Amino acid sequence: MIGKVYLVGAGPGDPELLTVKALRILQEADLVLHDDLVPAPILAQAPPEATVLNVGKRCGKKSVRQADINARMVMGARQGLTVVRLKGGDPSIFGRSGEEIEALREAEVEFEIVPGVTAASAAAAAAGVSLTHRSIASSVTFLTGHHASAETPPDRPPEQLAGGTVVVYMPGPDYGGLRARLVAGGIGDETPCLLVTAASTGNRTHPTTVRRLAEIRPMPGPSILIVGSVATSAHTRSGIPGVMSFNRHAEPVTYPIVGKLA
Ligand code: SAH
Repeated sequence: MIGKVYLVGAGPGDPELLTVKALRILQEADLVLHDDLVPAPILAQAPPEATVLNVGKRCGKKSVRQADINARMVMGARQGLTVVRLKGGDPSIFGRSGEEIEALREAEVEFEIVPGVTAASAAAAAAGVSLTHRSIASSVTFLTGHHASAETPPDRPPEQLAGGTVVVYMPGPDYGGLRARLVAGGIGDETPCLLVTAASTGNRTHPTTVRRLAEIRPMPGPSILIVGSVATSAHTRSGIPGVMSFNRHAEPVTYPIVGKLA
């Protein structure tokens, strides 16, 4: 019997944002290979007899080599196992899925991708803003701040960044370098920004501007930066910048138990 590998998006953290399909597949898993950001209440949905391994990379240090993750997935499938490669958010966004898909294709292992709610969507929801807006933002660009520095050229021509919404994944810790990169990309220094930490679980939002990015002190938990005019609506809606939080998980999270599907 030949197994199958599922590249599954676990969503931004709140177990209620796991898709019904992701939950079903997780409940059928023999082997789960997960990233750091997947919280325990979601992992708890795997059957008790399943092998659950953290293959995440902490603080840029590779705890498990990508080649080893690939080999483990292929080996599992060849043993007839249902392998779930569980990633935070959506597997196709800054999740190294490209390399894993290539390895699975090369090994001729059957695989399926199950999309998830990406952090950008969860952050917009947490802050009470829309990533696009009919009159002020007709495009959204996802960037990684990971290698941000003044020397790093923007990934897109400036005219495509300016005027639209830009969402920066992994924005820290070099916020000064990120500012330089955004400005080089054609984004004005006074453009409003929202830093959202722990979207869908803690929902801490911090409004700022491109100019003031360097003042940001990193907070515990994953953070993401929304840049563009849409960020202004978060300031005006409550009138109290920085305390936007109308998600019911606003306070320290107690995860609800996700029910088993019938
Ligand atoms: N595949 C994931 C992104 C992986 S990169 C997705 O689609 O969301 C990891 C980065 O995503 C983090 O450094 C952070 O910038 C962002 N991120 C993930 N979960 C987040 C959350 N709950 N709140 C804020 N940012 C988050």
